[in-house]
Amino acid sequence: MANTLFDALFAPLAGRATAFLILPDGREIRGAGFLARVAQAAHALRAAGVQPGDRVAVQVAKSPEALAVYAGAVAVGAVFLPLNTAYTPAEVDYFIGNATPRLFLCDPAKEAALAPVAAAHGTAVLTLDGAGAGSFAAAMAGQPETVQPVDRCPDDLAAILYTSGTTGRSKGAMLTHRNLLSNAEVLADLWQFTAQDVLLHALPVFHTHGLFVATNISLLTGGAMIFLPGFDLEAVLRLLPRATAMMGVPTFYTRLLDDPRFDRAASAHMRLFVSGSAPLLAETHRAFEARTGHRILERYGMTETNMNTSNPYDGERRPGTVGLPLPGVALRIMAEGTEVAPGEVGVIEVRGPNVFKGYWQMPEKTAEELRPDGWFITGDVGRLDDAGYVQIVGRAKDLVITGGFNVYPVEVEAELDAQPGVLESAVIGLPHPDFGEAVFAVLVPQKGVTLDTGAVLAGLHDRLARFKQPKAAVVLSELPRNTMGKVQKAELRKTYAGWFS
Ligand code: ATP
Ligand code: MG
Repeated sequence: MANTLFDALFAPLAGRATAFLILPDGREIRGAGFLARVAQAAHALRAAGVQPGDRVAVQVAKSPEALAVYAGAVAVGAVFLPLNTAYTPAEVDYFIGNATPRLFLCDPAKEAALAPVAAAHGTAVLTLDGAGAGSFAAAMAGQPETVQPVDRCPDDLAAILYTSGTTGRSKGAMLTHRNLLSNAEVLADLWQFTAQDVLLHALPVFHTHGLFVATNISLLTGGAMIFLPGFDLEAVLRLLPRATAMMGVPTFYTRLLDDPRFDRAASAHMRLFVSGSAPLLAETHRAFEARTGHRILERYGMTETNMNTSNPYDGERRPGTVGLPLPGVALRIMAEGTEVAPGEVGVIEVRGPNVFKGYWQMPEKTAEELRPDGWFITGDVGRLDDAGYVQIVGRAKDLVITGGFNVYPVEVEAELDAQPGVLESAVIGLPHPDFGEAVFAVLVPQKGVTLDTGAVLAGLHDRLARFKQPKAAVVLSELPRNTMGKVQKAELRKTYAGWFS
């Protein structure tokens, strides 16, 4: 009898008298206590009719109970399907319709709005709130505190995670027990996690970063997590002295840097800061090192593959790169059907035990992006530098083609960001009657600065070829970002679609 993921991640919690979760109020949940909740969640799932292979969708606030549902789903052989808590009922309707879960867990406050959505697809609804209360919690209470996990082999599905929807409609990535476990093993080893580690966890648990990278590594190595409901600057500053490691999106680090209390002393106890999910500016990396002495370790991954590359733990962490392919992960840069030489730009493809099985119920999409020999076409554009470090240049879908010339927004954004008074920028292509698409810039000023868009654009004249220079620019107080810190370019394209027409 074996259940690949359960045996490796959750079973070892049995009898563990040390803390697995440390909550913001100082309360600690020991390993054994958490495993008892996992068992109860597993029994409650079964009582709700969940069978092996069934999807269990959850749109609930981050809590220890929410994490127990993930583990409980693995125990009963179900497929865990977490959803971003920001999704509206109309968006949830798409996910439930696509994945047809047996059970959907939502916040009690949203039950009235979401129950009809679930009912339309024949899905049962139970509730769970951020404090761990609700009808699902009631169903857990009184259940046995041990569970015999059902057999699951490495190739069975453990989760369907929907992509963030940055470039189009979210797709459900089918992830197997092997996908998740192999990646956790490689990262735990590479980043030198041990049972002594205390990971500050402020990420959401509906996304691969917080759910799999952070949580699975911690479980696999027997460490503890300071489990925060979200990124709260005060809580992070208060709890950092108890932590040894932190994983975050770049905005976590810029927000820490914005606070003068965050300094060398505040991070003296830390051994590792990891960044991913969106690009970390080389400038942020340098400012962080100057302030704290720590070099943020940037890595690169995605819903479909978990992590693919990482800067080294020992050895040079190159700002502006996402590091080297992980052990066991093959990576190549392709253009026009062939692998390009180092330094040349192309689409990043990866292959390895981390690569997903395909998109749920989307055979055409799967065929488009996953080659029969196992190479996954990531859609990210990048290049290898002289030492084989991967540099992300942008997304294939972000490419602007203006008058027949290709413009990679990242290159233009870097030049804009370097102009006086510019904090950050986003470059997009907008429909243009003559050029097909025209390069357009959205600028965010530094605090207290009033930007003159004409002056900023003039500053690019001797920096970039004419066709790369934005034809117009607007100023916004901030860029639209989702909870993972990803700039929502589709939203910007929509807002300014008519600019040149
Ligand atoms: P969709 O696939 O639905 O358009 P998405 O690709 O944003 O959405 P995710 O799987 O959450 O959904 O994000 C993965 C993407 O995030 C990667 O393909 C890459 O573009 C970006 N990313 C992740 N880590 C980094 C990083 N360190 N630097 C730059 N980009 C990164
Ligand atoms: Mg993607």
